[in-house]
Formats: sequence, structure tokens, C-alpha cells
Amino acid sequence: MRSYPIERYRNIGIIAHIDAGKTTVTERVLFYTGISHKIGEVHEGQAIMDWMEQERERGITITSAATTCFWIPIEERTKLIGDKSFKEVDPEEKKKIEYRINIIDTPGHIDFTAEVQRSLRVLDGAVVVFDGVAGVEAQSETVWHQADRFKVPRICFINKLDRLGASFEKSLESIWERLSPNAIALQIPIGIESNFEGVIDLITMKAWKFEGEHGEKITIEEIPENLKEKAQEWRNKMLDKIAAEDHNLLEKYLEGKEISSEEIRSVLRKSVIEYKLVPVLCGSALKNKGIQPLLDAVIYYLPSPVDLPPIEGTDPKTGESISRKPEDDEPFSALAFKIATDPFVGSLTYFRVYSGHLKSGDFVFDTNTHEKLRIGRIVRMHANHREEIDEVFAGDLAAAVGIKNVSTGDTLCDVNHPIVLEQITFPEPVISIRIEPKTKADQEKLATALKKLAEEDPTFRIKTDEETGETIISGMGELHLEIIVDRLKREFKVEANVGRPQVAYKETITTTAEAEGKYIRQSGGRGQYGHVWLRVEPKERGEGYEFKDEIKGGIIPKEFIPAVEKGVKEAMERGVLAGYPLVDMKVTLYDGSFHEVDSSDAAFKIAGSIALQEASKRAKPILLEPIMKLEVTIPQEYFGDVIGDLNSRRGKILETLDRTNMKVLRVYVPLAEMFGYATSLRSMTQGRGVFTMEFDHYEKVPETIAQEIIEGRK
Ligand code: GDP
Repeated sequence: MRSYPIERYRNIGIIAHIDAGKTTVTERVLFYTGISHKIGEVHEGQAIMDWMEQERERGITITSAATTCFWIPIEERTKLIGDKSFKEVDPEEKKKIEYRINIIDTPGHIDFTAEVQRSLRVLDGAVVVFDGVAGVEAQSETVWHQADRFKVPRICFINKLDRLGASFEKSLESIWERLSPNAIALQIPIGIESNFEGVIDLITMKAWKFEGEHGEKITIEEIPENLKEKAQEWRNKMLDKIAAEDHNLLEKYLEGKEISSEEIRSVLRKSVIEYKLVPVLCGSALKNKGIQPLLDAVIYYLPSPVDLPPIEGTDPKTGESISRKPEDDEPFSALAFKIATDPFVGSLTYFRVYSGHLKSGDFVFDTNTHEKLRIGRIVRMHANHREEIDEVFAGDLAAAVGIKNVSTGDTLCDVNHPIVLEQITFPEPVISIRIEPKTKADQEKLATALKKLAEEDPTFRIKTDEETGETIISGMGELHLEIIVDRLKREFKVEANVGRPQVAYKETITTTAEAEGKYIRQSGGRGQYGHVWLRVEPKERGEGYEFKDEIKGGIIPKEFIPAVEKGVKEAMERGVLAGYPLVDMKVTLYDGSFHEVDSSDAAFKIAGSIALQEASKRAKPILLEPIMKLEVTIPQEYFGDVIGDLNSRRGKILETLDRTNMKVLRVYVPLAEMFGYATSLRSMTQGRGVFTMEFDHYEKVPETIAQEIIEGRK
């Protein structure tokens, strides 16, 4: 039985620029929701402290990939119980008004890595935290665009208003200028810096003050005289924008009629979910001010799973698009979004349920591995404890204990109604660097840490150079690998030295060609006999490799064909121009011969390799390089410089857009030209330009440059 209706779920993430206060906000959220859960103790003074002490000892779990907590908006709570202690309320009644908030941990580094995409994909809404002194920082823009890309409805929280130099208005202006003109203040601060006391709620026109050692004592009172006029001005600004979204509200507003808080909230909720408006709140997490209203806003304005469209996927058998509604009687579907190791229970596979329900002990189908799996134990993480549960429902986030072979991104679904929620065609890494520990003693630690990181992130790979024995790591860009090296240091305490980044070039052919491969040794003893004719034909970019067997009449016995293909594949790993892998070609085995006694798998494998190399050499091979899709956001005045620089990097401008005082450039540019771009963009734009870059496709390297690369490899 489902204990909370899905309408009362909020699956959210808290995202921010590093140091804006994400951790502190999350901690406070878990603290207050912990109290809310044991709300009966609030008025009993000592109890809160006990709770805090206990938590200090055990540590609030904020490192968990998904943490569940409960909240009731203050207004509803007051309506329900008035001044009474919550203990007098029937727990069943309480359940009827409580909301379940699942907080999904988002990585601190926001980059186009698979891990970030995963976490943004499984959340339904987000709280974006800003530093009230710095306002919108370069990285906040990246965060914002990521959230745009994944269509995440959001709320802004301007934090740190207690700090010297903090300004609510300036921070809000920077949001308008750099992120969205549709951001609207729902609060204004009472006092600022060391005098920051609380907030004025512009919807109810009341002043909220937060007292008590942990800000747990809230007083809601009349707006102080000196702020009345200002509050009214801000309320009007707010209403102008909200009313514009709804015909009825607009009419009432223009006629000067009384508008209730419920009406405002309901129109605002709809607009936030449709990405039209972004509410802005403020406070100081460190000083325990403003967090409870932020939680109220999460409930009021962020979507529940049913407010969003059904999840789309494909039928793995037919390839057709299908979708699943967020309902308990739909077939089960879920996405594994994080694999973690817990010191107490071992491996945890976190998953988000999109549809249906699942009991512990049930079987699911993993559409990536094509395996049927039994989900034994299921757990849910809370701020202060772990809960064993026997059933999960649509909208839930939970973790399966000890299941093997599931990777992040796998769809887990009903055995009889398979669906693939995410196409797991992760791009191959495009860049690699050599890495070694700073001290030899760390060798093993480094290997373990790298292995762990690779398990988390399917676009990050590790391999050993067979010739030198060195470790080579590869990923989706310079920044991606920098982040990995940084995480090694921060999370795994391993310092590493890295080499220069290398581009992952590839090779391919441009015409059809044929060649013979012969491996025949027949002098004394048992001989070797392998003989094949291969034809190679070019395929389109990204189409990959195909092998075709056209041997007729057993001129090469069936049993040797796999060996030929093995030889072909091995030869393709080292291309004919500069030793880079050969891709995008069709290889046909159409002729050859064999010997009754001397033929063997080994001989045919070698013959296959020889023929492939020879045919590729004849088929006008070329070098391919990874082309990145770059998005650069810069203040208008640097436009000329930035374009000029991109041209010199062989960039192809796809489009340029205007975004409130900023120019956005979308450009294709070869990865090889992009090393150190972060530094040059910073110096070209006085630190105000930001960019994101992701791999897009492979393209032919221009002749002169190709020659240099080939020479360099010799
Ligand atoms: P994160 O990197 O975004 O997770 O940021 P943290 O929560 O770790 O905060 C970064 C620093 O800012 C820490 O030293 C916090 O104590 C401090 N901090 C966080 N919130 C506030 C705040 O509201 N006011 C002040 N003055 N400092 C804060």
C-alpha cells in the first residue's frame, strides 16, 4: 500500500556554484525536516537540542545519492493544529498533510559529464543556490543552462545575506541580466549583513523572523513600519508578472479586487512548472534564516511527478517509442542513476521509479544487460536513518541492496513489458592523458580510486599502455579529466601527475578496395595455412563497423570464419596511417582457400589481419578528429575578439543568439584546437565569458594538419 499520494512527492535537487552554500542549505533542510517529523518536540525546548546532538554524533547523511524527508508548509500546519502541540494530532491525520521530499544529490562540479546528466534527469525540480555577495557567478550560468537543457523547473535561493557586502537587489538583478528576466522575488529581506533578521513574504505580506538557537522558532508578524512601502512596491512587481500568466487573475488584479494567497500560489505554481516564471527567495543558511519558507516554496511551486509529462522510452523489441504514465498500475519502469558503496550494507543501486510498483523479492529486467534480476532488499535513506521497505511505487526513489551487474543509466523494468528509458550510447572518449601517482606508494590507491570513478561514469575509461606500462585515462574533454584528477585529490586523497592531453584521432577509408592476405608456412613439421581475400568499403560517419561473410561452397570452412573476423578486428585497432583505430567501414570476406591439414584459427586470423591492413592502405585512408560542440556565453563587448579567436581555432559558427546583454555562440570546433581554452576565454573576457563543450562527431582532419600528425607519430 502506498502511504503518500504521488501528488505529495517532490523529487528535487539542490544545485549551485561551488561555495554558494549547497551543503549548508541541504544540512539545514534535513535539520528542519527532521524536526518536522518529530514536530511534537518543538515546543519542549530541550528536545531539539537532543536531536541535534544525536545527529552530530551520527552525522546527518547528506552524502547519500537520494535522501528522503518530510515537510508540511507552515501555513497548513498552523491551520491544522493552531497553537496545539503536534503530539495531539493523530499520526494518520498528519500523514494526510505531510509531503515527501526526496533530495537527489547533484555533483558539485557541473560539467557535461554523464553523472550530472543522470542526476538532472531523475529530479523533477531544483533549488538553485546563489551567493548573495557574488550574485550570479560564471559557474551558476553553466548550472542554469544545464537545467534548461533538461527542462527542470526551479526556484532560486539567494543565500548568505548575512555576509558583509551582501545585496538582495544586486543579486536579483544579476539573475535578471544573466539568467532569466522571468525571475520574480517572492520575498525581500528584513535588514542586511549583520542586521539581517528575516524575510517579508510578499504573498501574505507578513514578516517572518527566525529565532532560537537554530532558527527553529518562527514568528510571523506585521511588516515593520519602515518597510511597508517598499514591500508594497515589490508585491506589485511580483503581481504584475504573475497576473500576466492568467486571464482571470489579471482581471481581478486590474480591477483592484482582493486576491488571495491561494490564487497567487496556484497561478505561480502552474507557471513555474511550465518554465515560465522562476520564484526567488532569500536567506542565510549559516544563520538559520529563511530555510523553512524555502521548504514551503518547494511544496508550493515545484512539480510532483504527476505534474510532468509521462516518461518516454523505446520498446527494445520493436524500437518504437512508448511512454509510461506516473501511475502505480502501469508496468514497472525505473532508471538506475547511481551505484554507491555503503559501509554497512555494501553495494547500493539507486533507482528512480517512473511507473508501476515493485515488491522486494520481485524480478526486474535490465534492458541494458538483458538480464533478469531479483531485487532482494530495498532501502530508503533518511537524514538520520535507513529504512527497509518492501514496496516502491511510481515517483519513489530508493536503493536496491547488493544487486550485481547493473550500471548507472540502466533501465530496470517489468519483465513482461520491457522499455528502454535511456539510450545508452555513450560516446567514446575523445581525449586521454597519462597519469601516475606523485608517490610510488600511492600506486594501488590510485588504481582503486580510478576504478571506482570509472564505475560511476560510463564516459570515463582507464587503460594500460602495453608498451610503457603507464596508466592512461580518457574522457569527454579536458575539463572532464581535470575534474577527475581533482576528485582523486579531494575525495580519494591521491595526488597525481598527468601528462599532456592527447586527442583520440581515428582513421577511416574513402574508397572501396580489395586485398589478399596469405599466411602460409609449409617448411617441415606441421605447417600454417590461411588465405583470404577481403573487400573494404567506406560507411557514413558514426555507422561503425560491419563484417560480411560471402564465402560460398566452403572454399573456406565455416569454422575458420570467426578467426578471420577476429584478425580483422584486431588489425582495425591499429590503423594504417598513424596507428589510430579504423572506424566506419564494411569488411567483406569473399574469397580465399584452405589446406586440409595445415589450416588453423591462428593462421586465418593472421591472414585476416594482413588483408585488412593491405586493403585499407589501398582504400585512400584519412585521419578523423573529434569535433566538439561549443557554447560560449560572453558579454556583448567581447564578441569580436571571441569570434576572431574561434576562427583561428578552425571553429565553424553555427549560430549566434542574444540573451539579455549577452551573446551566445554555438560553434563546431576541433578538440585539438581547444586545449587551454578556459584560460584564454577568461583573459579575453576579463573572466566574464563562460563555455560548455561536448563531443559532437568525427570529421576529416585537413590534409596539411593530418600530415603533421602522421609525421609526429612516426
Ligand atoms: P557548497 O560548496 O555550495 O556546498 O557550499 P558550503 O555549504 O560548503 O558553503 C561554503 C562556505 O560558505 C562555508 O564556509 C559555509 O560555512 C559558508 N556559508 C554557507 N552559507 C552561508 C551563509 O548563509 N552565510 C555565510 N556567511 N556563510 C555561509
